[in-house]
Amino acid sequence: MTAPDRVTVRGTPVVGGVAYAPVMWPGPRPALPAPGPAPEDLDAEVDRFRSAAASVADRLRARASAATGVAAEVLSATAAMAEDRGWIGTAEKSIRAGSPAPNAAAEATETFVAMFTKLGGLMAERVTDLKDVRDRVLAELAGQPEPGITTPDHEVILFADDLAPADTSGLDPNRVRGLVTRLGGPTSHTAIIARQLGIPCVVAVGDLHTVPEGTLVVVDGSAGTIVVEPDAEQARADVAASRRAAEETARWTGPGRTADGVDVAILANVQDGASARTAATHPVAGVGLFRTELAFLDRASEPTHDEQTALYREVIEAFAASEAGSKVVIRTLDAGSDKPLLFADSGTEANPALGVRGLRVAFAHPGLLERQLDAIAAAAEQTGGSPWVMAPMVATAAEARDFAADVRRRRLVAGVMIEIPSAALLAPAILAEVDFVSIGTNDLTQYTMAADRMSAELAQLTDPWQPAVLALIERVAAAGRAADKPVGVCGEAAADPLLACVLVGMGVTSLSSAPAAAAGVGAALARVTMAQCMAAAHAALDTAAPADARAAAAAALRS
Ligand code: PEP
Ligand code: MG
Repeated sequence: MTAPDRVTVRGTPVVGGVAYAPVMWPGPRPALPAPGPAPEDLDAEVDRFRSAAASVADRLRARASAATGVAAEVLSATAAMAEDRGWIGTAEKSIRAGSPAPNAAAEATETFVAMFTKLGGLMAERVTDLKDVRDRVLAELAGQPEPGITTPDHEVILFADDLAPADTSGLDPNRVRGLVTRLGGPTSHTAIIARQLGIPCVVAVGDLHTVPEGTLVVVDGSAGTIVVEPDAEQARADVAASRRAAEETARWTGPGRTADGVDVAILANVQDGASARTAATHPVAGVGLFRTELAFLDRASEPTHDEQTALYREVIEAFAASEAGSKVVIRTLDAGSDKPLLFADSGTEANPALGVRGLRVAFAHPGLLERQLDAIAAAAEQTGGSPWVMAPMVATAAEARDFAADVRRRRLVAGVMIEIPSAALLAPAILAEVDFVSIGTNDLTQYTMAADRMSAELAQLTDPWQPAVLALIERVAAAGRAADKPVGVCGEAAADPLLACVLVGMGVTSLSSAPAAAAGVGAALARVTMAQCMAAAHAALDTAAPADARAAAAAALRS
């Protein structure tokens, strides 16, 4: 355990693992240009700007073609930003209005940064990428080397305000052992690349600048902590323990079970036949969440009965022959807000996250839900499978009752998602109406904390370890225990090995998330007893802050 008098800074954990090395901060970015005299030859200045932007784009594209996977994708996306006609056109206008090329690049960037920030969500997370493109163009215009991170000659933990894709995509995981940023959210490029490199990563660390270059730190990517100048022996032991856990994860093949033999179904979230077939290659006992709306995002009109039946069949069949299990939980269309469907549109709404979305779309589009249930029933009959069916965004017990009646009429097993605080508070009444519930912690956290799940700025609030969220989950789990009905968790919380133990301790019976997370969760559960999970749940519920909840749960599991 870490000595209590060490300074610990905290952030949002995004990739697990423990690393111990000195801090490296990236070198300074190019200074923003001071106002300068208007260029004499405007056409020549426009050409100078355009050719600098084109060189930057070419270099990024060359690096993209030398990279693979996500790194290649993010580099191509950044290259496309350097070629963006809107951005280039805005800069050109500035030049023609009298700004030198560097000032024009900075002005155009400011315009787009303001626009992206206002749009929020994923767009706001691209601000860092845009500023990176600006800095590269400024360096090119000044004839300086490309800004970015120098390759260290020893192991380091990279600290930064935020990292652009072009910074992160070239990182060598043998040298850069961990990533820590002051900004960024769980979906930022830093997080995506850290996941691909498999190195621990913590983002949104407010007081990061208190830790200077060269300081020895331990980064714990599961706990979201950075211990400054730790006890060296303890730090090495923590790194070794995390390595052992990674080895156990690599060896874990299921089934989901605590060390004392309590079964917990470890399931996968999928969105179509292909992702279901990929999921079936992981050690999962089936599908805990089939997000049907994601298969139809590009459709202008409602898919036909036959098209829908074929899709649902594919997912059921992907697990039909699986030795690990063949459970499939199909969620009816969760259209609206962050997942708009053209054929189930609710028009312009002032606040789509609180508008006609999820099950509410079915009320606004009579027949849509019934046709989907008919297709699911047909797929079940044709495959001989028995999928469970659940509705998203249920707010009241009456909605649960009506939905369950529609589902049971087709001889299917009926459940609802608990992702609105009202549903969590009314869990006993809702469970009385259905056969099972599944907690969508992504939305439950968003609505409990009144914080947009896509906002990087609010990452500290949209953390499922927020004790208020844990309290609601525990209420649902307790209702499930009392009713003796299954309570699953199918939000991203189910991918966090430490939180998984807490959820199981509360009485959650299945955990469904990205299939890649299954082994980590399964291996963590296999190391602990149900009594330890229950102690971890109690300890976490007894706190008032996410970091304290994590620390309390981890301590309870160790003892
Ligand atoms: C959730 O909200 O946790 C959930 C699983 O649903 P989605 O992420 O699709 O909204
Ligand atoms: Mg949801």
